[in-house]
Amino acid sequence: MLKVCKFGGTSMADAASIRIVEDIVHGDKSRKYVVVSAPGKRFKEDEKVTDLLYKAYELRRDEKAFSEVFKKIEERFDGIISDLGLSFSLKKEYGEIRDEIKKSTSADYAASRGEYLAAVVLAEYLGFSFVDTRDIVKFDERNIFDMPLTEKRTAAALAGKVYAVIPGFYGSNLKGDVVTFSRGGSDITGSIVAGAVDADLYENWTDVDGFLTADPRVVKNPKLIDKLSYKELRELSYMGASVLHHEAIFPVKRAGIPINVKNTFDKKKNGTLIMPYVDLPKSDKTITGIAGKRGYSVINIEKSMLNNEIGFVRKVLSVLEKHAISFEHMPTGIDTLSIVVADSEMKSPSDLLCEISSEVRPDAINIVSGLSLIAVVGHGMLKRKGTAAKVCSALADNEINIRMIDQGGSELNIIVAVDTNDYEKGINAIYNAFFE
Ligand code: ASP
Repeated sequence: MLKVCKFGGTSMADAASIRIVEDIVHGDKSRKYVVVSAPGKRFKEDEKVTDLLYKAYELRRDEKAFSEVFKKIEERFDGIISDLGLSFSLKKEYGEIRDEIKKSTSADYAASRGEYLAAVVLAEYLGFSFVDTRDIVKFDERNIFDMPLTEKRTAAALAGKVYAVIPGFYGSNLKGDVVTFSRGGSDITGSIVAGAVDADLYENWTDVDGFLTADPRVVKNPKLIDKLSYKELRELSYMGASVLHHEAIFPVKRAGIPINVKNTFDKKKNGTLIMPYVDLPKSDKTITGIAGKRGYSVINIEKSMLNNEIGFVRKVLSVLEKHAISFEHMPTGIDTLSIVVADSEMKSPSDLLCEISSEVRPDAINIVSGLSLIAVVGHGMLKRKGTAAKVCSALADNEINIRMIDQGGSELNIIVAVDTNDYEKGINAIYNAFFE
């Protein structure tokens, strides 16, 4: 049995939590490779080490302000080292990192040092080898992640190591410069390591019990999801369920390695098991979870006889492509086409409308903003009648208007767009209809 464990920022936040990490890792000999995040928040107002490092990078030209921030980072690690009763010093590393940050032209190197130092400390504490991800997680010349090369390098680097600690979140490009994944990216590193060593299980240790059926900031005490499939995970995490990075699925997917999300601070709980697929006949659930995001707009385009105009959609989409805008949904009618786009994608909406107009000469075109998307996800809805009806009547009973509805052909999800004012009420209405 071989397990790869990833511990998140809260698990690495201070000596007390790192002692729990040690207990978990040493409690099971099959936990051989440990991937870590940088120390996160110890209390609500605390600062994450990664945030401090981004700040240090921003202030790198202002010696006094830079030193003030960097000192906080040093104190954080020195505190952990002395509270753990370790006797080594990171002084040399601090000096190197200070110099490198001042020279660097991207924030990635600075941001990565939290994971680096956390892994150095944990390797020392556990008595494990330290393996630097800079040498094994590779990005190409455009800083795009190179999965085949990474897998090869990771497998080779770990082949001779029985137990190792590996920093998450970063790697390097062909020039050797540090490149990071997006925020929360240590989940991806954990998955990469699990895939590369063909682990039996990828354990993702965090500060919550697992995946919840809805966002606890929106629904009071939502139920825990005990099992879900890779596909359901992808849908839920893409649509805002933030327990696991939404790209963490890919490296383990090919090898079919299950992921177990578990709570470091309540380790006896089973957590959520994410499997390649779920055994539908054994499951009586119609839906597995609900997720959602605020901040969307719809571009509405109207033109008579649009259905007969070959190439109409391609022309519209070519304008989006030119503006490097990715869209989420595209419901169509006979004479209408709507495109749902995240507000963050839309840099200059008026230019976009002008260009689409000159490309396809519509009868009418407008943008409606202030929308939110709610995703109702679950394999259980496959061939089961009435799921969409239940979603719609839950919303109607709560006087919520559906601005758009979209169900994929795979019957894995139903997406509805509602006014952002109705977002929380809508999620609660759907939650109550399916889970209460
Ligand atoms: N430390 C990084 C962040 O705060 C990466 C991670 O924790 O996964 O986003």
